[in-house]
Amino acid sequence: MGMTLTEKLLARASGRTAVVAGENVWVSVDVLMTHDVCGPGTIGIFKREFGKNAKVWDARKLVIIPDHYIFTTDALCNRNADILRDFAREQGLPYFYDIIDDPNGHWKFDASKGGLKRQYGSHYAGVCHTTLPLKGHTRPGEVLIGTDSHTCTAGAFGEFATGVGNTDAGFIMGTGKILLKAPETMRFWLEGALQPGLMGKDVILHLIGDVGFDGATYRAMEFVGPGASALSMDDRMTIANMAIEAGGKNGIFEADQKTFDYVNERTAANGTKTDYEPVTPDADAKFVYNKKFDLSKLEPTVACHPDPGRRKLAKELGHIALDRAYIGSCTGGKTSDFMAFARVVNGRKVKIDTFGVPATTQIVSELKSMKLGGKTVWDVLVAAGVRMTENAGCAACLGGPVDTFGRMNQPMKCISATNRNFPGRMGHRESQVFLASPATVAASALTGKITDPREFWS
Ligand code: SF4
Repeated sequence: MGMTLTEKLLARASGRTAVVAGENVWVSVDVLMTHDVCGPGTIGIFKREFGKNAKVWDARKLVIIPDHYIFTTDALCNRNADILRDFAREQGLPYFYDIIDDPNGHWKFDASKGGLKRQYGSHYAGVCHTTLPLKGHTRPGEVLIGTDSHTCTAGAFGEFATGVGNTDAGFIMGTGKILLKAPETMRFWLEGALQPGLMGKDVILHLIGDVGFDGATYRAMEFVGPGASALSMDDRMTIANMAIEAGGKNGIFEADQKTFDYVNERTAANGTKTDYEPVTPDADAKFVYNKKFDLSKLEPTVACHPDPGRRKLAKELGHIALDRAYIGSCTGGKTSDFMAFARVVNGRKVKIDTFGVPATTQIVSELKSMKLGGKTVWDVLVAAGVRMTENAGCAACLGGPVDTFGRMNQPMKCISATNRNFPGRMGHRESQVFLASPATVAASALTGKITDPREFWS
């Protein structure tokens, strides 16, 4: 019997000729990623189980990216970054994207400089799931495991990518292996092209609305068809990123020339591993769900409070008055996301508090050099009234300490380009988050209520 993309990947990574959904297999891991929230706990488990002088299974396969609770004066959060630094030094890790340049230093955020100006050294990168592809750590055909639920983002590159807890990650650190149950696959056949003003975020919000926020629990979400091939790598990342918001074990696209070009450019630029072997699905693969979607029929979509499956069209929600707009995160903080936002707000002023947090430091640089109508994108955003920070990171996407940039410290309604809107996700437990594309967030920031971006799209 034929195998799906996910089954084929897991078969190869476990040294078998075939894997059937539901089977438990020992899988070799190509890349393990951890960050400042789960890294210290994972390191603790690794040392407890393998010994205090143990070495990680392969220093070149471990990537450590501080990004979550970084730009805060919270001493325990700052301490987490120091634990990662000590470990990276002790293990000789080449891929530790530290906030500061001194390998023996201590991280401390200086609140007196304010939240907008850069406070990081030359190695810092930003949000883990956006940094991994940027630095050449995502490759077709590989297995990437991370201590973060949105690790599924890397499925955009035709690899198996999923999030795990600290215990599994500690075991991988010592052995390079993980025991995984092969998930069943749901196939989303995409055809047609997105209309102007529509983005990858609209696609995934539509699909999650279709199956529900638990509709893909422990399943692979495979996105294929001519509509999938036509999507940019950024849109594919946005879609794979939110597979977990439907409960998915992983999200996956088949790698194609667009993928190879993207990956080859970044592995070469960063000196990361350049060889990889993509997989293709079998024609007779078996799916537990198989449905066609015409992307040309989609309209700007919103997931309403309090879960990512509460699908509505932006044009149906004009009665919802907002207090805040937020653009950023591994889902909506890429250069193309800010570009779409800037196209909508260019020459206009936002009506509500609007925060912009680029996902990576490279995106900060790109926004400061790319032009829109004679101005840099960064300047367009600032002129429109967006509070843009140079401190790339997760920021208020997951709330964070009380001094986190953009955090909702009071009950309020926010439209956000992020990926998760369960109660309390961005701060105050009584706040409400509406998930939407950067274009819809921008249009809503201009009017102060949820707005279809096609009213402003030119
Ligand atoms: S940006 Fe948000 S969703 Fe992405 S890794 Fe950070 S906290 Fe998680």
